[in-house]
Amino acid sequence: KPKNRLTASEYIEGILKGDRVLLSRAITIIESNLKSDKILAKEIIQEILPKSGNSIRIGITGVPGVGKSTFIEAFGKYLITQGYKVAILSIDPSSQRSKGSILGDKTRMEELANSEEAYIRPSASGETLGGVANKTGETMLLCEAAGYDVILIETVGVGQSETAVHGMTDFFLLLMLAGAGDELQGIKKGIMEMADMVVINKADGDNIRMSEKARIQYQNALHIFPQSESDWTPVVSTASAIKNIGIDKVWTEITKFKKLVTDNGYFEKNRNHQQIQWMYNNINEELKHLFYGSKNIAAQLNTLEEAIISAKISPVKAAQFIIEEFKKSFLKL
Ligand code: GDP
Repeated sequence: KPKNRLTASEYIEGILKGDRVLLSRAITIIESNLKSDKILAKEIIQEILPKSGNSIRIGITGVPGVGKSTFIEAFGKYLITQGYKVAILSIDPSSQRSKGSILGDKTRMEELANSEEAYIRPSASGETLGGVANKTGETMLLCEAAGYDVILIETVGVGQSETAVHGMTDFFLLLMLAGAGDELQGIKKGIMEMADMVVINKADGDNIRMSEKARIQYQNALHIFPQSESDWTPVVSTASAIKNIGIDKVWTEITKFKKLVTDNGYFEKNRNHQQIQWMYNNINEELKHLFYGSKNIAAQLNTLEEAIISAKISPVKAAQFIIEEFKKSFLKL
């Protein structure tokens, strides 16, 4: 065992005691793509699983500028005054390109970042969405084991990442702005449909009346969607993250939701479903690594690309060919 390297049990012991340094180091191992780290990460996850799950997992999305960081700062502080420990994670596959996450930026959540009761961890980077999502899901388990009872997972509401966040949380919160027109500010209908609650942020100053109008409009719009499996009727409310108005209402609704879905069994059913999904996500990622990580396959793919361009083979045939090659090399293993 190399110097400085702890065993899975040593990490777990530290995490269970709420040691933030060991928590951070364990998350780094989860995010690592080194073979030895991957093995250790799997051990940690396996052992931590029975100690995790005891939290409410909340997904938060909305377009850039809607006020996600400001809202999370206000909401997180509120939860701490209520006696909770809060972990803030993010899923941001774009952080690979921008060399640094645009989410979960500590400078934008200054007070929370300095609180002992809050833990902020920006998105894993250098990964596909599936990879980032898997790693965030595992990070969430470690945070739960470390005693964080509210997990906030933030993502930008412009791509596929909301679906990933929705797939690993209990409650999905969509932040919106008033007066941005009917086209739902680039927020796709599918995202509206996933929301358990819509919060019209920046309902302050001159914006109050318009926000109230928007609240009614969105509440009506949500009625068009079929009743969700949870039996919960999505709520729309207004808030001002900056003035700390309407923040407590969000928690009140989440508490009501939690009670409803615990009583009717949906909470457990949904978590079980997510566990199964987690397995498939891992299978998908592993298969991709196996396939694209193979030097032989990579070399042949290059040749196939050229053959496609010079019309020597059709894309469909090329795909079939390379899969056959993969199967052959796999059988040899
Ligand atoms: P994010 O990109 O969604 O994380 O948005 P930020 O939290 O960074 O906020 C974007 C801008 O909107 C910042 O200048 C904030 O100060 C401002 N902002 C956030 N919440 C409110 C609010 O409730 N009212 C007003 N008036 N401004 C806000």
